[in-house]
Amino acid sequence: MRVTQSPPPIMRAVLWLPVLFISVLLVLVAQVSFLTFHTLVELFAIIISFLMFTLVWSIRDMIRNSFLLFLGCGYFWVGSLDLLHTLTYKGMDLLVHDHGNVSIQFWICARFLEAMTLMLAPFMINQSIREGRIFILFGLVSVAATLTVYFQLIPNTFIEGQGLTPFKIYSEYLIDLILAVALWCLYHQGRDLPTLEKQLIAVSIVMTMIAELAFTFYVSFYGLSNLIGHLFKLCSFWMILHAIIASNLRKPYKDLQISENRFRRLFENSEVSLWNVNLTPAYHFIQRLKLKQHSDFETYLELHSAELKALARQVHVTEVNSATLHLFQVAADQPLADQEKDLLSCIPLSLFKKQLLAMWTGEEHFRAETVCWTLQGERINTIISMQLPQRARDFNNLPISIIDITQRKQDEQRIWQQANFDSLTGLANRSYFTDSMSHAIDLAERQQERLALLYIDLDRFKQVNDTLGHAVGDQLLKSAAQRLNSCLRKTDLAARLAGDEFAVLLPNISAPEAIEPLVSELLLLLAQPYEFDGNDSIISASIGVAIYPDDGTQVEELLRKADSAMYKAKEDGRNHYHFFTLEIEQEALRKRTMEQDLRNALLNDEFTLHYQPINDLQSHTASAEALIRWQHPTRGMISPIEFIPFAEELGLIVPLGEWILRQACAEAVTWAETSESPPRVAVNLSCKQFLGQDMPALLEEVLQETGLPPSRLILEITESLLIDDDESTLGQLLSIRAMGIDLAIDDFGTGYSSLSYLKKFPVTYLKIDRSFIMGLPHNSEDKALVNAIISMAQSLKLKIVAEGVETSEQALYLQSYNCSYIQGYFLSRPLPAEEFRQFIANKD
Ligand code: C2E
Ligand code: CA
Ligand code: CA
Repeated sequence: MRVTQSPPPIMRAVLWLPVLFISVLLVLVAQVSFLTFHTLVELFAIIISFLMFTLVWSIRDMIRNSFLLFLGCGYFWVGSLDLLHTLTYKGMDLLVHDHGNVSIQFWICARFLEAMTLMLAPFMINQSIREGRIFILFGLVSVAATLTVYFQLIPNTFIEGQGLTPFKIYSEYLIDLILAVALWCLYHQGRDLPTLEKQLIAVSIVMTMIAELAFTFYVSFYGLSNLIGHLFKLCSFWMILHAIIASNLRKPYKDLQISENRFRRLFENSEVSLWNVNLTPAYHFIQRLKLKQHSDFETYLELHSAELKALARQVHVTEVNSATLHLFQVAADQPLADQEKDLLSCIPLSLFKKQLLAMWTGEEHFRAETVCWTLQGERINTIISMQLPQRARDFNNLPISIIDITQRKQDEQRIWQQANFDSLTGLANRSYFTDSMSHAIDLAERQQERLALLYIDLDRFKQVNDTLGHAVGDQLLKSAAQRLNSCLRKTDLAARLAGDEFAVLLPNISAPEAIEPLVSELLLLLAQPYEFDGNDSIISASIGVAIYPDDGTQVEELLRKADSAMYKAKEDGRNHYHFFTLEIEQEALRKRTMEQDLRNALLNDEFTLHYQPINDLQSHTASAEALIRWQHPTRGMISPIEFIPFAEELGLIVPLGEWILRQACAEAVTWAETSESPPRVAVNLSCKQFLGQDMPALLEEVLQETGLPPSRLILEITESLLIDDDESTLGQLLSIRAMGIDLAIDDFGTGYSSLSYLKKFPVTYLKIDRSFIMGLPHNSEDKALVNAIISMAQSLKLKIVAEGVETSEQALYLQSYNCSYIQGYFLSRPLPAEEFRQFIANKD
């Protein structure tokens, strides 16, 4: 491939050919009339001088080029002096009638001015000059020069018949010298000048120098040196004109073109929708209103909506980029004029109004988030922004950018949804609910209203979850949430707080009683059977109600109180509702303190065990039941009837039960020290202890640690444990029995009447509940029951323990019926460990 190298700009034909052509023409003219030749050459230079000035002066605001401005100002006056030179030229006979002396004097002045201008101009390059003053200064110098010529204050330059005077010749030499200095200055000061501009001016200076030299050889006005001098001058001016055109016109145009191309690429390739619109009518509309001194523009627009619409129709879209077509789903193949109306209809009128308001208040920038519609009717969220110019003319091509933030909005919405709503039921979550509630409370306070908070818990939901699986549990929760929502007002808010706990906020209620019908309806609705895969599940709910401001004014407080009321409803037998009351609060408070105290009690060693003897028919203390006592630091002795159920509920029974077992076994070991046949120890176990841990392993460990033989341990369990039919519990009980530990059924007769489990389990003892012993020996029903139990036990080879034997009569009666063991105050109350040791020692 051949690479054609274009010549350097200074060598281009377009630069040289025209001037060469003109030169040839002018030389031809000179052959006919030298005066015409001279006049044309000079006029050419004069026109160039004025043109240069006009050019740099008119665009001085846009291109601050002090160098060219200085040159332009200088050349205006050089041109003026050259004009005087031309008009006074020998043969013109216009202003003076001499042999050319005056004309040459003007010439010398013009050349001095030109040389000085060229010499000084490079020093202006990085200065900010005041072009007005410089222009006047040059003007004054030129006027002064003209006056000196006019009053003939400078020496003669030409004497007809003798030729040039030495003054003239030395002046030319001096001018050449100045020009040489100018050339030097140009290269030393003009480092920042563009190369071409510098080269052109240098060529111009050199040509002027040659012209000056030619003029020193001047013999006659119409001689050859004169001709050559003028031709070089012509070239010199031509070059300087090019310098100015190159930097003032060509370069800016080129830059503009580059910038325009860059802008085009940016505009077209931008992913942001870009529009250019003409808003001039809107601008004028506002200016007119301002002139009429309207003050409330917003109201004006509201009152004159037709005018607003008409104004909107006058908005013109001058161009849009392809991102715009894509965003608004506009066909790309149609001309913009056809689509303008459609495009504008995508933007809501309200936005136009906002933008007018911004223009009215004189804002410099307008930015608004707004919903637009595509031509296909899709909703898009956008941010529309634009600069608002201050001048009318800038409104006819105003760039506007439209950013599509639909995805961002959707993400935000999704995140908001996730953060505030329960994914399973779609109801509000706890955090959103409490926030809304706090807001509702503020509102209720201001408007002196009441609001109700319902705390809803599904009854026995855990069973559904455990027996039918979590998928069904989830279905049930969903349905319950739907039912809940179905009977609420728009202003009410339902939430899922956790698991199977829901809450409902009912703002603006007239009186607490007013919500009773709704709550009853809710209970009824929630208790309807739920159908899953053809199976009906029946579940109910318990509801607690707290009222603002009657029961509290804080979110957490109201939630807590509604929760307590809900527990009360559960205690009332479930499928109930209960309003919060002071007693509930006290009960709840008591429970809370009890909970705290119980937790501390274990750490602070506040528990002890008492032992109650159990005697056989021979009045021998065969065993002793370990019974726990709680010595509360402030409340004194607290009965296990009060705190054991609570410890069970809190799960504290597991560590507590372990402590009891250890303590009882360790104590029982010591009994062997004083007695040859030491009593066995009976330890009460709660059902919960079988659920949370591996009882056989614990027993193994404790027996190992304390050294108590398993045969000396009896575990008292309740019937419910055997009835529950839990695989794990059954297994544990069998292992325990296999270890050689005896099992006793506690409180026999109070629970289930089914005795079938007795066959399944290797139970050793039945303890007849105290309530049946109390009526002995007179109450015939109790007698019949006790007799039946004893005879059944005998047939099953079980040993009977009668609990709560308080009198000798009872004891005698039981002995007569062959009851194996008795326990009760008749023998002894439960005794502290030390006293019990004494008790057995005394017996022996
Ligand atoms: P229980 O297992 O039926 O214990 C017998 C209860 O009857 C004991 O009450 C005992 O003091 C009481 N009692 C014994 N003889 C008589 C009598 O002649 N007349 C009357 N009126 N009462 C008598 P206590 O110690 O208050 O225990 C109550 C219940 O607390 C126990 O009933 C048992 O269910 C539970 N409990 C006590 N200690 C423990 C323990 O260490 N672990 C577990 N899990 N529960 C325990
Ligand atoms: Ca017991
Ligand atoms: Ca009992």
